[in-house]
Amino acid sequence: PRLANQIAAGEVVERPASVAKELLENSLDAGARRIDIEVEQGGVKLLRVRDDGSGIAADDLPLALARHATSKIRDLDDLERVTSLGFRGEALASVGSVARLTLTSRTAEAAQAWQVETEGRDMEARVQPAAHPVGTSVEVRDLFFNTPARRKFLRAEKTEFDHLQEVVKRLALARFDVAFHLRHNGRGALALHEAGDDAARARRVAAVCGAAFLEQALPVEVERGGLRLWGWVGLPTFSRSQADLQYFYVNGRMVRDKLVAHAVRQAYRDVLFNGRHPTFVLFLEVDPAVVDVNVHPTKHEVRFRDGRMVHDFLYGTLHRALGEVRP
Ligand code: ADP
Ligand code: MG
Repeated sequence: PRLANQIAAGEVVERPASVAKELLENSLDAGARRIDIEVEQGGVKLLRVRDDGSGIAADDLPLALARHATSKIRDLDDLERVTSLGFRGEALASVGSVARLTLTSRTAEAAQAWQVETEGRDMEARVQPAAHPVGTSVEVRDLFFNTPARRKFLRAEKTEFDHLQEVVKRLALARFDVAFHLRHNGRGALALHEAGDDAARARRVAAVCGAAFLEQALPVEVERGGLRLWGWVGLPTFSRSQADLQYFYVNGRMVRDKLVAHAVRQAYRDVLFNGRHPTFVLFLEVDPAVVDVNVHPTKHEVRFRDGRMVHDFLYGTLHRALGEVRP
């Protein structure tokens, strides 16, 4: 199983950022309201994610590390309507096969916390008592310590941390109701408090995208025909230097989608004669019945039942918003 896990890890675990994504999604699936992320050396030496979610019962701890063990779906019917971010039961097993992993958790019912460890070895994980508040901590040390070929592909500490931080930012914009705190090498990198109202949401966008983005961006808020689009679009003067600032969420899930990208680019081009570097933080809310957010773990695609209508709505909304500030 170790080899099988390491092979699976090749797909899930590419770098510290991909580990962070899996751990954060698990925390969100567990209903966390606050997530603390501690990183050392870009996440290669240490990545610790602590949440205040539902926790894992002592009996289930070894299972959480086993391949194909998921608590999130029980049968094929569940698979049809999966709402959790994870459901394959591969992530922890994969990470545990290529790093030193410690899982500590406590449920609200338990009198105390329990812990299991792996060191990339085949072994029956032993459950030991530990100290931890209700919730879960996953500590991942020395990523790829036993797979030097993989370690070779890691980039400079700053690059790895930037990727990891980007993962946190993307999820933080999907979940304004959850607090995220990120520290790197003992220093605070992101402190995002729960954002319950418009002003707090704007503050979070400023913290994630930079105050400069928010200062020049156009706020958008339109509702029509069962579609609601809100957020901010950047002006081209700003956008030129920030080509990668593109966040688009459909019902709270980040997507990178051709139809969406096309509609945005087209609106920029038609109004401002420059469609090259749009910047935006946009949230589209639609009836879940008319959209199929692809659940593939690495793709971020989305399928709308009526793509034409969504495209026209996005294009029309942005065209009008940008038109108002056209120089
Ligand atoms: P998946 O998320 O696909 O179910 P994972 O390997 O990511 O698979 O996690 C395995 C299982 O471990 C989950 O199904 C869940 O039961 C448990 N688990 C992992 N992380 C957490 C967490 N932070 N809080 C509560 N349970 C967790
Ligand atoms: Mg998972």
